[in-house]
Amino acid sequence: MDSQGILNQSVASLKGIGGQTVGRLEKLAIRQIRDLIFHLPLRYEDRTRVQAINELTPGSVALICAKVVSSSILNRGRRTLVCQISDETGYLGLRFFHFTAKQYNSLSSGTLISCFGEIKDGYSGHEMIHPEYKVIQQIDDCITKDTLSAIYPLTEGLRQSSIRKAVEQALTLYNNAPDSLPDLLPAAVLRKFQYPTLIDALNTLHTPAPGISLDTLVNYPNPALKRLAFEEFVAHQLSQLQRKSADKHWQAPVLECSKQQARQFLASLSFKLTNAQQRVIAEITTDCASNSPMLRLIQGDVGSGKTVVSAYAALLALSSQYQVAIMAPTELLAEQHLRNFSVWFKCFDTHIIFLTGQLKGKKRQQALEAIADGSAGIIIGTHALFQDAVVFARLGLIIIDEQHRFGVNQRMALRDKGQHKNNKPHQLIMTATPIPRTLAMLNYADLDISIIDELPPGRIPVVTRAISAQRRSEVIAKINNWIQQGRQSYWVCTLIEESEALQCEAAEKTAAHLVEILPEVRIGLVHGRMKAADKDQVMQAFKKHQLDLLVATTVIEVGVDVPNAGLMIIENPERLGLSQLHQLRGRVGRGSDDSFCLLMYQSPLSKTAGERLNILRETSDGFIIAEKDLELRGPGEMMGTRQTGQMQFKIASLENDIDLLDQVDIAVNLIQQNYPENIQPLVERWLGSTTKYAEV
Ligand code: ADP
Ligand code: MG
Repeated sequence: MDSQGILNQSVASLKGIGGQTVGRLEKLAIRQIRDLIFHLPLRYEDRTRVQAINELTPGSVALICAKVVSSSILNRGRRTLVCQISDETGYLGLRFFHFTAKQYNSLSSGTLISCFGEIKDGYSGHEMIHPEYKVIQQIDDCITKDTLSAIYPLTEGLRQSSIRKAVEQALTLYNNAPDSLPDLLPAAVLRKFQYPTLIDALNTLHTPAPGISLDTLVNYPNPALKRLAFEEFVAHQLSQLQRKSADKHWQAPVLECSKQQARQFLASLSFKLTNAQQRVIAEITTDCASNSPMLRLIQGDVGSGKTVVSAYAALLALSSQYQVAIMAPTELLAEQHLRNFSVWFKCFDTHIIFLTGQLKGKKRQQALEAIADGSAGIIIGTHALFQDAVVFARLGLIIIDEQHRFGVNQRMALRDKGQHKNNKPHQLIMTATPIPRTLAMLNYADLDISIIDELPPGRIPVVTRAISAQRRSEVIAKINNWIQQGRQSYWVCTLIEESEALQCEAAEKTAAHLVEILPEVRIGLVHGRMKAADKDQVMQAFKKHQLDLLVATTVIEVGVDVPNAGLMIIENPERLGLSQLHQLRGRVGRGSDDSFCLLMYQSPLSKTAGERLNILRETSDGFIIAEKDLELRGPGEMMGTRQTGQMQFKIASLENDIDLLDQVDIAVNLIQQNYPENIQPLVERWLGSTTKYAEV
């Protein structure tokens, strides 16, 4: 077998690995020998030195050597063998809940033992519970190891000793044939960032050399581990870029419109586009005029006017006799797009289809037919657009709103649907959650990014105040006053649990309470458990000013545009992320009057929570808020679970390794330019050989 192939063999070919163990390793996604090499220790045990009892700290694991001072069996509740042991420096308790008479006898006073275990804080000083121990004749018999011992993550039924033996064999094979796992990072990169080679890093992590202390190994940052995390990030980014360049092999329809059509469209708007909108429209126009598919992300704060920009893209498609699909994460939002597009494309003789999960029976059938025979030009909907039954006649453009709600795979799936022979539709994605640059590089390297960094003129920033929930009655008086002046208001209920049910219950209670104390006020309620049609009815009523106060859960985060609603109360804002709060706040301040957002927190507010709310008071720039959110909560939290679900790493973590991303960029460029042959092997190593680029 050639050296490259050795590590591709099944783990079953290793000594002492039987069928059962193979099954258990499989549960840890370990199939080939190479997988064992990348199965890194969870932690290490230090048996390299004997520690003195007086230097032990609770929580640490230590090897000690001491004499039994006393031992006895306690019968309080549970039969327990308790020993006191001592070296010259102090005393330590040992506690056993399972023991044999033989064990008890062997631990008589005066016996010398070596023992290894975790130090706990006991009733009377430090103790070890069920340590590993051995009776020895003299101190010198206390056997220390030369190196730290790796402790591997296990799965049920798998023993530490089995996996350790397996890893040892795997490493020996690798060390005897280093080419079996080539270093895919260029030497220049390793030198530049002072990283060890792959083989050194892996050996260090599995079998730390003698003399390496536990501190240097687990303390941050450990260069061996960092190097692997770095390589993983590099592989992820390369895979995204690979997808991007694979796209270049596809054709896309050229979408363009005449000057007159453009003028007509712009003239039909009731406002003038901002410079930022015009710039992004120009970028899109260039993309669409090319015959390779556009894949562009528009980032723009809430209210920055992304929709009309996407409508311009739709104009390009319609003018070129192609269909446009617009997908929104919620029905509410899809309906808002429907309303906007219906107005903007009124003069355009085109059929607009609205497709959601609610559409059933004959109406659905008719809609599907219009999509399939091409008579529908604009198709607006929710996830329902993914359904197999939806077949587009000539899809030229896909618009996805609020991208962070959809995963990469969904994004790709819709595009594959629109695939026609070797043609793919153009794709435009919009998000109001600014993604800090570093994260965008990792997750959206395959997208071109446009930023709308300007709000339409005349918008007055929302005045944001934090106020204690103890002043609830003052807040209610303020709402009442506000509504007496003919304005409308939102009241947003939040809960820490993602539990929709509890959140809805809280909103119901709040609404009932407000109805009681504000009998004059017309109060509506929307929450996630309501039927879409009922929700829509309430929203419509609010929009038409048949309701004054809308009590809602966070479902209105992305939603309607009601300029007259200029006051928002957010309960328990300390429980939400800054970006989410900013999104919510974006619902107000849509008109030209003053608007307010009251953050009604539970006191006492912790110092950090107070600082976070302050950021919201001080700035209304979504990009700054996103950066702060990232800083304060870390990327996992900030991006939300939906987002992080897409970013699963084996070794790297966004929490610990985000500082690497600038280095990653440099390495990725270098590899692309000088070592393109390393790209595919890197992607396969870290993202698996299942990552297919069949499109190429
Ligand atoms: P978002 O970027 O949050 O999706 P929208 O596209 O919903 O924002 O736009 C918010 C509001 O601003 C809408 O009522 C829209 O019609 C209006 N709008 C968009 N662009 C402009 C502009 N250039 N001048 C004035 N109002 C605008
Ligand atoms: Mg929007």
